[in-house]
Parts: sequence; C-alpha cells; structure tokens
Amino acid sequence: MRFLILADIHANLEALEAVLERARGQFDQVICCGDLVGYGPDPNQVTEAVRQLEPALMVRGNHDKAAVGLTDLSWFNPLAGSAVLWTRAQLSEENRRYLQAMPRGPVEGDGFTVAHGSLLDEDQYLLNLEDALQSLSLPAHRLTFFGHTHVQGGFTWFKEQRAGPLDPGLRKGAAESRLALDSENRYLINPGSVGQPRDDDPRAAFAVYDQTRALVTYMRVEYPVGRTQQKMREAGLPPYLADRLRQGW
Ligand code: ZN
Repeated sequence: MRFLILADIHANLEALEAVLERARGQFDQVICCGDLVGYGPDPNQVTEAVRQLEPALMVRGNHDKAAVGLTDLSWFNPLAGSAVLWTRAQLSEENRRYLQAMPRGPVEGDGFTVAHGSLLDEDQYLLNLEDALQSLSLPAHRLTFFGHTHVQGGFTWFKEQRAGPLDPGLRKGAAESRLALDSENRYLINPGSVGQPRDDDPRAAFAVYDQTRALVTYMRVEYPVGRTQQKMREAGLPPYLADRLRQGW
C-alpha cells in the first residue's frame, strides 16, 4: 500500500492541484494531517477536492476548527484570525459540516499514527527536537505523520537511544529525497505544507509513504504561486499572507 501524505493545504488550490498531478500513479490512498483551510483563497474548492480524494485517515487542524467555530480566535495572530473570519464567511454549509466532522488527532492507522500537532496535543508545534522528545519517547507509536509547523522533515528516535532531526535537504532545488525506515527506530514525519511552506522553499511540499517497501519519499513541486497570490489580493486577504507564499516563509 502506498499513501499520499498531505498536510496544511490551507485553501491553496493551485498547490494542491500541482501535488496531485505530480503524485499521480504513485499512491493508493490519501492521508491528511489537517488544515485544509485558512490563509488561502479557495476554502470550498480545496475542501471539495479533499472530499473527493476520500482520505483513508485524516485529522483536523487548528484552522479547520477555527473556520467552523470550534476554537477561540484569541489563539490566532491577527492576520491568521482575519483569514479565519474570511474563510468562515465563504464556506458552504456542506463543507462547513465536513470540516466540523474531521476527527481530533492523533488517530491510528494500520501500523502508523496521524496527528496534526503532536501525539500529546493536536495543537502543539513540534518545531525542534526538544519539543519532539516527549512524542518520540512513546514506544507505542513507531511511525507518526504530523503537520502544523509547515516544515518538511521531522524527527527520529534511533534504536541506539538517541534522537535527531530529519532534514530531507530539498531546499537547494531537488525534487525528492528518500528515507528508508528502520523498523527498530521511531519516526515523526512531517510531509511539509502543501499550501503555505515555511521552510525557505516556496514549492508545495508532500510525501509518499510506501508501506511495503518501508520507504518515505519527501517531495516538492512548483505551482503557479502568482495566481494564488492574485486571488488572495482580489479576495481582500491580508497582503502579507500572499507575500509570504513567494518566500516560502
Ligand atoms: Zn497549518
């Protein structure tokens, strides 16, 4: 079984379409680590596209919760908050109900776990090894896919009882990087953000997990950033949110 791992799509339809085009024929099922909406200009189209993919497993993200009123907006910075309010006003009733029904992470798959933030808290940011250690130390979870930080990579707990970060090293422009999984290690894998990367690479990020071969392939793909930015400006979303897409930050 091969899984397409998507996280943090953030209503960026152009990025999602580029990812699906690039990944075509390379996966059997889809896993989604949350944040379908928020920030971007196409919340309905992206939610509908994900619905059509019928993810085998998915968890909600903090923006999905906020967009349907399940979170207090005081947790959001003002720019993200104004995008949440804009998103709320756009969502069709059907999509609103779909987002509302997204499960809280972590959820268990066949031999792996899916989370938005961490194994302990769906809203926790795993930005560095120190933050990741608590989640990495849980032996029940050998392989976890997560999102939320918008940074492609993750963390490993090695069988030699030490931990380290995972860096796919794609910033210089390579399109993919492979990670062979060791069944005695534990992994927290972040496929990166489809729709709003924050790791100094503006290309859409995702991963493919080949369960049979115990192989994770991190991938990046270009998409028409200018078109997404144009739509954001026309929608009246905060200009900074459009600008950052070009930087990948
Ligand atoms: Zn996010």
